[in-house]
Amino acid sequence: MVFTIDDTDAKLNINVEDIGFNDTKTMSLEQLLSHNDLFKDYPQLKKYKVEFKHLGLDTAMGVYTAGTNTITMNLDYFNGENRPRIKEVKDGNVTRYYTKEEFNNLSEEEKQKESETTQRFFASVVLHEVQHAVQEIEGNFSDVYASMGE
Ligand SMILES: [Zn+2]
Repeated sequence: MVFTIDDTDAKLNINVEDIGFNDTKTMSLEQLLSHNDLFKDYPQLKKYKVEFKHLGLDTAMGVYTAGTNTITMNLDYFNGENRPRIKEVKDGNVTRYYTKEEFNNLSEEEKQKESETTQRFFASVVLHEVQHAVQEIEGNFSDVYASMGE
């Protein structure tokens, strides 16, 4: 890895839960993400496309497709009444989800906290996919292909 994206400087311009669940939306990366250093180093990334799709829970949360300048985010994990509710994140991965019953029994405050966790986790998945785009720009194609679909 030649470049690691510093996520302390990254900010999402949208709340993923505010995207209409039944919409299939597309926006540019700069519409989705504020990140001055990243866009200074790789201005071409601003125009990369981010698609929001429903791909089901048996597939990846996000995908960068090499050669198309497109990141696809799987809304089924991040949006809608029936999305899985995150209980625990460790080392950048979701390690536990709430069962439906557990989640329903949470206080409003705990539900709000889960919502914030989801937003943060969504941001980290976006940045992970951006990392693949950077790998492609830098010519590390083997990296890109090895990690496709993650
Ligand atoms: Zn990956």
